[in-house]
Amino acid sequence: MKKYDYILAGGGCAGLSLVYHLLDSSLKNSQILILEPTLGEVPNKTWCYWNTAALPIHPEAARFSWNSFYLQQGKQQHQHGLEKLSYYHLNSHDFYAHVLEKIKNFPNVHFLKAEVSAIRCIENEVYVETNTSETYSSSYVFDSRNFVSNENQNILNQVFIGLRIKSQTAVFDPNSMGLMDFDTASSSDFDFIYTLPFSSQEALIEYTAYTSETRGEEALLSSLKDFLQQKYGELAYEITFQESGQIPMTTRVQPQTSGPRHVRIGTAAGWTKPSTGYTFAQIQENCNQLVTRLEKGATQDLRFPRKSRFIFYDNILLSIAHHWPKRLPEVFINLFSTSSPDLVFRFLSEKTTFWEELKLLSRLKFGIFLKGLTRYGTY
Ligand SMILES: Cc1cc2nc3c(=O)[nH]c(=O)nc-3n(C[C@H](O)[C@H](O)[C@H](O)COP(=O)(O)OP(=O)(O)OC[C@H]3O[C@@H](n4cnc5c(N)ncnc54)[C@H](O)[C@@H]3O)c2cc1C
Repeated sequence: MKKYDYILAGGGCAGLSLVYHLLDSSLKNSQILILEPTLGEVPNKTWCYWNTAALPIHPEAARFSWNSFYLQQGKQQHQHGLEKLSYYHLNSHDFYAHVLEKIKNFPNVHFLKAEVSAIRCIENEVYVETNTSETYSSSYVFDSRNFVSNENQNILNQVFIGLRIKSQTAVFDPNSMGLMDFDTASSSDFDFIYTLPFSSQEALIEYTAYTSETRGEEALLSSLKDFLQQKYGELAYEITFQESGQIPMTTRVQPQTSGPRHVRIGTAAGWTKPSTGYTFAQIQENCNQLVTRLEKGATQDLRFPRKSRFIFYDNILLSIAHHWPKRLPEVFINLFSTSSPDLVFRFLSEKTTFWEELKLLSRLKFGIFLKGLTRYGTY
């Protein structure tokens, strides 16, 4: 049986990010095995995050960013500027190419196209079995296999479909991205449009819904096309890329592991912000810290529990999303128009102090939050 220092069960965003951070550390010569069933066939995805500077893992040639954004309801457009932060866009293919280019220089990193079927911890060793009945052992296993919700749990998902379009005429303002446009098809969920304009003629436009129902891709695509027609009229455009996805929005993630050396990472570990679905920047921060802890001999816990007050805020927002989804547009408009957008984004990244949160929350119209409290629970 082959033995490694670290095995990655899943080589998606979190798995490859962790390897990237390991290769930048004193552990770079460790024997590393990545087990991933879809190696090389990963569908293209768009990852965005906000930060004061582009993250080191974000390849320079693939950087795009905005310093202003808008929320729109009806004819009213709420424009906001960012001060210290920028909103960055990264394409997953560029990310994979960048990480794989780095890995090429390290013969100690091994890839295997395989599906992990079981992970067992026995004393200080972790055993990983694949669907081809191979077994590998390792000192640590980092497991990002997809999060699966318990069927009895009625959780919300963020479902979306996006089209990158090239139009024949100049219709977009590349200086300002559309964080949320609420002029969507009628539905019983919280729906909005997300627009990333790359030039006056090119943009990625996504139809997004927070929902606990199944919303088929065809239905979302049709709602997106209706929006394009309503907003831009008879626009002639070519579709250059399409993406779709589903992100769990829940505070109920309880990472299952078979022992302390079997460590969950990524969405499966609860690193996705339950009220927004953003995960990418958190993955980078946690992977960086994880490597520092491993360098120190991993005497510390390798998990990253969230602060209870942020879980509380998320549960209130999710309570509103479950019971009064039509009130969410006013919540987001109110949030961004009463505090500086930099502060709001820091709050959504869980980087604010308690006093900053009190200041930010005290400015909000809190009727709907009191309603949310009446149905408070773990969502
Ligand atoms: C289309 C899309 C767009 C997103 N956009 C953003 C964004 O703009 N900003 C943001 O912050 N977040 C975004 N997210 C959320 C989040 O950043 C991504 O989902 C991210 O990919 C999560 O990383 P992960 O490693 O946890 O999961 P994944 O990247 O999905 O990786 C999990 C890996 O595990 C593999 N796997 C599954 N089963 C097995 C098995 N049995 N054995 C071995 N491997 C297995 C899978 O093939 C996969 O490669 C987006 C999500 C999606 C789906």
